[in-house]
Amino acid sequence: MLEVKNLKKSFENNLVLNDVSFTINQGEIVTVIGPSGAGKTTLLRCINGLEDVDKGEIQITNKCLVKKYQSDYRAKGKELIEIRKNIGMVFQNFNLFPHMSVLENIIEAPMKVYNRNEKDTIEEAYDVLYKLGIKDKANNYPYELSGGQKQRVAIARALILDPRLLSFDEPTSALDPELRLEVASIIKSLVTKERAVLIITHDMEFAKRVSTRIIFMDKGYIVKDDNMNNYFNSTDNKRIIEFIR
Ligand code: ATP
Repeated sequence: MLEVKNLKKSFENNLVLNDVSFTINQGEIVTVIGPSGAGKTTLLRCINGLEDVDKGEIQITNKCLVKKYQSDYRAKGKELIEIRKNIGMVFQNFNLFPHMSVLENIIEAPMKVYNRNEKDTIEEAYDVLYKLGIKDKANNYPYELSGGQKQRVAIARALILDPRLLSFDEPTSALDPELRLEVASIIKSLVTKERAVLIITHDMEFAKRVSTRIIFMDKGYIVKDDNMNNYFNSTDNKRIIEFIR
């Protein structure tokens, strides 16, 4: 469902992604871990179309977001909007609109960007809020919510577009440590036969709890990409062992 092929990205002379390739299939929860500066956030931003790439290809549900080899292609306009619908992103600091209520935050994109009908969108928004356990907060404003509640609103905002890939940048970093378990179980509940989750995190305990597969990045490379059950038992890579410690 997500295919990343031979991705390269530099900021001036700093090579941040160096020939990064991987695939994510429906039903997977893939976590990208690695030291600071490894290129994790840049990778996530490229996949979400927020950052241009220098080389390589990104495909979501077989639709090409960007391809830069011999040809030079980047989805634009309506096509980009359609592709974007399939990739939801929950930002580290949630990026909620402070002047809008929870409900308004959630219905903004489906109505303004995708021209969905107001009545149906509001109904859907209530369904999503109910699923996430915060239906009673629909008319509150972001400043009236706890960190965990804000995160659920950010998830609801992504979820209402029914994305095939839901991505999270450091989902535990703005939360109290005891909420980690809760976030892990929310994220697990969001994966379906048609949806996968991609997470960037520093939080090893969280990664262990939530992932079906872990990708370890260092200095712009993928050092190890393995399923969760093998990950911690089978590695003899010193860099990974050091990092896990
Ligand atoms: P962290 O775990 O600290 O968030 P990371 O693995 O997510 O790190 P990135 O944020 O992707 O790493 O950054 C990778 C490298 O790219 C770093 O050297 C960073 O300074 C550089 N970088 C990231 N964004 C930009 C930018 N907009 N302009 C210039 N350099 C950038």
